[in-house]
Amino acid sequence: MIQIRGLTKIYNGVPVLNGIDLDIKKGERIAIIGPSGTGKSTLLRCINFLETPEQGEYILDGESIDVQKANAAQIKEMRLRTAFVFQNYALFANKTARENIAEGLITVRGEAKETAFERANEILQNIGLADKADAYPASLSGGQQQRVGIGRAMASNSELMLVDEPTSALDPEWVDEVLQLLTRVAQAHQTMLIVTHEMAFAKEIADRVLFMEGGRIVEQGPPEKIFTSPDDPRTRSFLRKVL
Ligand code: ATP
Ligand code: MG
Repeated sequence: MIQIRGLTKIYNGVPVLNGIDLDIKKGERIAIIGPSGTGKSTLLRCINFLETPEQGEYILDGESIDVQKANAAQIKEMRLRTAFVFQNYALFANKTARENIAEGLITVRGEAKETAFERANEILQNIGLADKADAYPASLSGGQQQRVGIGRAMASNSELMLVDEPTSALDPEWVDEVLQLLTRVAQAHQTMLIVTHEMAFAKEIADRVLFMEGGRIVEQGPPEKIFTSPDDPRTRSFLRKVL
């Protein structure tokens, strides 16, 4: 569905992504694990063009996009195909839960306000927040805010959901409700690329686990393999620390 070739991102002369190659198949749920500062967030942000990579290529159903030469239409295409769930939720503070979910449908996808609000209402029902439709983020718990963040991504019906450490900003009491919602999204075979430190969750929902270090994919495979008998000593060493 989306192929990534030779993706390279450099910050201040230091490469943080070192030629990433990755094929994402439709319906595939990929978990990315790895130590802090190894480029996991940067990879997701580059796919969404929140950052401009220095080198590389995205191939969308055969159409190649050179990341350096991507034009506005191609950048928009990548953004329409992807939906981001942020670690810190990134909700508009001055918009209600319903408006937060509807906003992108109206501004990015050009939907009529009524259709977007209807869709937002359906989503709020689905994520168990119908009674919070008119609430502002500040009056919601962290778990509820992140569920709105996930709801916003669900509303867009994007091909690929990019999820960056969805629970790491949450108080422990809100983690489960967010993981449960994401598990439900994953079970619906939403294509997902999800960075997480929740290893049990990764094991449960992922078809494939990528271990990243130093801006490279060091090892990848099915969760049973990566979590029980990884080949690379760096993967073993990381898992010893986190499991
Ligand atoms: P974590 O697990 O802590 O979230 P990560 O794997 O997501 O880490 P990234 O956030 O992708 O890591 O960062 C990779 C490297 O790039 C780090 O060394 C980081 O300091 C650097 N970096 C990230 N964003 C920027 C930026 N906007 N400007 C300069 N350096 C950056
Ligand atoms: Mg990160």
